[in-house]
Amino acid sequence: MRDVDLHRAEERLRARLTEVEQLVAAQRALAAEIADSGKDANTDDEHDPEGSTLAWERQQASALAAGAAAERDVLLAALARVADGTYGRCEVCGRAIPEARLEVRPGATRCVEHAAAR
Ligand SMILES: [Zn+2]
Repeated sequence: MRDVDLHRAEERLRARLTEVEQLVAAQRALAAEIADSGKDANTDDEHDPEGSTLAWERQQASALAAGAAAERDVLLAALARVADGTYGRCEVCGRAIPEARLEVRPGATRCVEHAAAR
């Protein structure tokens, strides 16, 4: 089986990393903005339906930011594997992970077979 094209993989990872970092920043800014607007508004949260909606929206933004931050960590780990030459190999069996799988999940550390067995 052909080895992964590390140069292409790195470009793909960096492009995705840029997107994810923008997403983290945007969602964190949104969460902060919502938190601020909540502060300025009527502080009577419990009896204010607007207040609980804002809290929920802030939670959603924080959750999205956390999810994107987790993906960023996965991508950074993948870039480290590109650097040390282990990228694209299953951590269980050591076989090459198919290019098509890496295109969909650039941070994949296992082949389809072993990802399913987890
Ligand atoms: Zn495997």
